Order: sequence, then C-alpha cells, then structure tokens
Amino acid sequence: LAVLRIRLLICVLIWGGVFCPGQGYLPSLGRLRNVVVLAGAGISTASGIPDFRTPGTGLYANLAKYNLPYPEAVFDVDFFSDDPRPFYSLAKELYPGRHRPNYVHYFIRVLHQKGLLLRMYSQNIDGLEKMCGIPEDKLVEAHGTFASASCHLCYTAFPAEEQAIMSDGVPTCSFCSATVKPNVVFFGEDLPEKYFQHARDFPRADLLMIMGTSLQIEPFASLVNTVRSTVPRLLLNRHAVGPFERKPLRRRDYMELGDLVDSVSRLARILGWHAEIQDLLNSQEGGVWGPALCV
Ligand SMILES: [Zn+2]
Repeated sequence: LAVLRIRLLICVLIWGGVFCPGQGYLPSLGRLRNVVVLAGAGISTASGIPDFRTPGTGLYANLAKYNLPYPEAVFDVDFFSDDPRPFYSLAKELYPGRHRPNYVHYFIRVLHQKGLLLRMYSQNIDGLEKMCGIPEDKLVEAHGTFASASCHLCYTAFPAEEQAIMSDGVPTCSFCSATVKPNVVFFGEDLPEKYFQHARDFPRADLLMIMGTSLQIEPFASLVNTVRSTVPRLLLNRHAVGPFERKPLRRRDYMELGDLVDSVSRLARILGWHAEIQDLLNSQEGGVWGPALCV
C-alpha cells in the first residue's frame, strides 16, 4: 500500500514528464507552476510548538490555571477585554523567535525558489514562514500576526509588543487605556485583507498542497473546494481531513498520511530537492529540525 501511495505521489509531483503505470504522463514542469499551499499547525509541531487541541499537551491545556469557560475563549474578544492574561500567557509561548522553522517550512521555501509557489496560505501565527525566508508577497497569514498590534477598543496601531509579552506584562493603550492586542485574528474578527486574494489565487492554482491542518476552522477550511475540479489536491497530514475523509476520493485527490516531516522529506527526495533543503537547514538553523530529529 505504501508503495502505491508513493507511486501516486510521484504521479502528481515529478514535474518532468515521467510515465506512471495506469496514470499516463504527468504534466511537464512547464505546465505546473502555480502551486498553492494551505498549511496549519501541523507544519510547526516539529519546531516544538504544541498543537492547540491535543488533550493534555496542547496549548489550551496549559491554560487550565486561568479557569477559562471554554478553551477557545482565549481567542474571544469579549473575554479578552475582561481578562487578557490567558491570551498573553499563550502569546508568550507562541511568540516568534522562541521557535525556529523546520524541514517543512524550508520545503515550501524551496518550492518558492523554484518559481513554483503561487501563494502560501497559513493558519499559523508563529511567524515561522517569514523566518525561513518565504517572502511577504508569497504569504498570506490568514489568522494574523504578532508583528504588529493595536488597541482592541480604539484601534490605535502599536508596534509589536514583544517586551511586554516576554516580561509577563499586559500592554495598554496610551490613548484610551484599553488593552493592546497583537494583530492575531480572534473568533468573530475579520480576516486580514490579504486573505481575500484567494478569490484570484485558487482558480489559478494547478496544484493544491494541503499540509498539517485539521480543516476545521472556517472560512479557511472551505478554500480547498475552490480550486478547479481538474486540479490535483495533495493532502500531507497525520489524518484524513475534510473532503479526504470521503470514500472514494475525488479523482486527482491524493493523500500521504503519517508524520509530516517524514512525508515531506520523502517527497523532497523523490523530487531531488532533499540536499538543497538540508543545505538550507544547515546554513540557517545549524542543521536542526530536519527529518533525522523526528524519526
Ligand atoms: Zn485605545
């Protein structure tokens, strides 16, 4: 079964015109150049950032001491205005700089370097995409960022509140004294304007790669259904999610389940990109966060 799955991967992803039994010839490199990547928390677990929902070890579980009415209240604006401390505790854990990009992030950077990345849509607020060198114009941080902040009441803009967050402080607005909130998207808040580029990007995609997401949070989850029906969708994830839970799969849907770093490094080897990614990891991260750490 594993061999079959890998063969399917090869069919979708070797962009050189390789013949695959039963699958015909692949689109050549010249025809596949608008890859859209949709990524979630799973791409950052190998960087040591715990998943939000994993019972016992997840970030929500660490907030137990604050007696939240329900875990997601940490991202509720009304709750935040009453008690911003749980959010700031979480912010300290997630703040960019405490963690480093891993193999998966660098795979996406290489996808960009090869001129194949149309856009990456990420649900993550850890900033690791930018840190690994994916340029601003190729990246949509759909759930916002810690790179800037604003007063949650009067919307006055403030620079990133790193110092306050790291010293367990809660920054307040110099105009109205309300709490300043990093520009991370809370439940019920509008997504950043950049997110709406999806209306142009998804119809242009010729391959959709979905990585490390549970596809549970809307409107992000529904994006997978906005590529053209002839476009291959490749899921690299721990479990089948969203439309990949249905059987049979849609024609041209493929999935590779299991450890994400393993799957991505296998794919990179098939594509002949592994050494390049490893070189980047060595030069940028001193070689850590590669597959060797995660097997
Ligand atoms: Zn204010």
